[in-house]
Amino acid sequence: AEKGSVRINDLLEETISFIEREADNNSIAVIKNFSEEMPPILTDGPQLQQVFLNLLNNALDAIGRRGMIEIATRLHADQRLVITFADNGPGMKPEQLKQIFDPFFTTKDPNKGTGLGLYISYDIIKKLGGEITGENREQGGMLFTIILPLTGSGA
Ligand code: ADP
Ligand code: MG
Repeated sequence: AEKGSVRINDLLEETISFIEREADNNSIAVIKNFSEEMPPILTDGPQLQQVFLNLLNNALDAIGRRGMIEIATRLHADQRLVITFADNGPGMKPEQLKQIFDPFFTTKDPNKGTGLGLYISYDIIKKLGGEITGENREQGGMLFTIILPLTGSGA
């Protein structure tokens, strides 16, 4: 895949704009908590955007109506970027949580979800030299964390 200089905050802003109307229509607040100290990184913008969009759509689906999605960015001490997506939806049962990155794992109607989103997302992030994890938040809902190197390796 093609790599270029990517400003993560800008890429997130653009991706959020794709779902803002749907969030608004369903009374879902989208909160941005971006660090201003984010250096541009060498990575695959379009592929990364696909991951962001899947995480945002998953959060919208999980919340349904009324809630919030918080997207935060920060520069990690060891010179990696951290991007988090938190929502206050129902979260996941432990036995389902174990399967989120498995191909075809979905709890949605067949016309709504293929269960490939997080599987593909995991693959994309790995190939970009990063990590992605998903966990329940203490206060309810899910927290997805993506860690990216400043200069990606691999694909
Ligand atoms: P799909 O969206 O097609 O179902 P994904 O791989 O994107 O496939 O997600 C797999 C499953 O993980 C979803 O069906 C849902 O059960 C669960 N999931 C993903 N994100 C969240 C979230 N933010 N809150 C609750 N459950 C989630
Ligand atoms: Mg999905």
